[in-house]
Amino acid sequence: MDIAARHDDPAVEELARAIYALFPRCMRCGIEIRRYEDADVRILTNRVVHRGHCADEENQLGSGLSTGTPGEG
Ligand SMILES: [Zn+2]
Repeated sequence: MDIAARHDDPAVEELARAIYALFPRCMRCGIEIRRYEDADVRILTNRVVHRGHCADEENQLGSGLSTGTPGEG
């Protein structure tokens, strides 16, 4: 089972909060995420980004690392 899909699991919630406590800064734009409610915690990759704009970019890029032009390779 995909752990990322278990948002209703208290253990996953706890883990997400722990990761956010360690990394309160957005790993995409570098700006502090003021509230846990504003954070999109990627448990599987230990990445924390803002909900919305930054999370959308994470989804598009997949790995979170962008090199070169999309469509190449
Ligand atoms: Zn951000």
